[in-house]
Amino acid sequence: MSDSGFPYLLSLIEDGIFVLDQRHEIHYMNDAAARIFGFSVARDRNPTFIEVVRDYECDALVKQCVDTGDAQSASIKIREKKQYLDIKVSPDAESRNYIVIVKDLTEKRHLEEIRRDFISNVSHEFRTPISSIKLLSETLIDSPPKDPVVHKDFLLKINLEADKLAHMTNELTELSMMENKEARLNKNSLNLNSLVRQVVQRLEAQSAKKSLVLSLDIEPPVPDLVIDQYRIEQVLLNLVYNAIKFTGHGGFITISVKKRDNEIMVSVSDTGIGIPREELPRIFERFYKVNKARDDEGVGLGLAISRHIVASHGGKIWAESEEGKGSTFFFTLPLGA
Ligand code: ADP
Repeated sequence: MSDSGFPYLLSLIEDGIFVLDQRHEIHYMNDAAARIFGFSVARDRNPTFIEVVRDYECDALVKQCVDTGDAQSASIKIREKKQYLDIKVSPDAESRNYIVIVKDLTEKRHLEEIRRDFISNVSHEFRTPISSIKLLSETLIDSPPKDPVVHKDFLLKINLEADKLAHMTNELTELSMMENKEARLNKNSLNLNSLVRQVVQRLEAQSAKKSLVLSLDIEPPVPDLVIDQYRIEQVLLNLVYNAIKFTGHGGFITISVKKRDNEIMVSVSDTGIGIPREELPRIFERFYKVNKARDDEGVGLGLAISRHIVASHGGKIWAESEEGKGSTFFFTLPLGA
């Protein structure tokens, strides 16, 4: 299987290219073809097409072309590798060989899937508050309650649903800006310990409502960091707020700040419901909620936004958890960034 007679140019092309004879023996394949099918074994004889592609549908297409003498094309999904390929086999009358061109559409299809899921998630999350607003306002128009207290209660509910919509829109805008790297960081030198204390103060009332014990484990003195205060505060608020939301009455939440080598590590741990092991890698995806029915308040964007914020500061975010025992969320921020 030599490439003599075939220009070097072919090895630069992103589509896979094979030249076969009528016995399906490969006389040439470019680098992209080998990469698409994960073929790297050097042999002393020309491999056959099926040996490289290991898919009967692909091989059948070549057979059809050899049998009929007509060009054949198909979109093929290789299940085992979750690959989407567009394949075209054409006879070359002059050399009596067959040319196979393979386009790998896997990445493109994957992005299309993400986009589709995203749109259906957005519409789903918007539908509930919109239908509540519609129902409540229709009642006010058609049969307004006589009691002014009930009347006001309706208006408050409408207001609350509108707030939810505004909150979701803000989060979506924020996320899309972070993903498009449009969000400019407004960095200043800042002491993280005082930021953590402020966040805890802001959420004390909420944790008191559930009789949670919020404690701080701060290593003094941690060096100042150059960070965007508003955004890092957002990450802390998201993590501590989640800890409050997912921890039952009387539980414990501990926020710690520690210096490790060239970074500061913050952790927020709770004694709450925890996260099943198999779900853990997915919680930072946008709209991901462990149990959609478990809480109807969040939309699953908080951690996706937090991940972007931390990454844009050059840090990392991750979680450890045991179902029924609690979770710990960690994030790091590099010193001197
Ligand atoms: P949400 O706005 O729904 O809280 P997040 O992106 O902040 O969205 O979190 C995604 C999901 O991760 C949550 O819906 C929840 O299922 C899970 N989760 C996050 N933090 C915790 C925690 N401290 N304990 C248990 N589950 C959590």
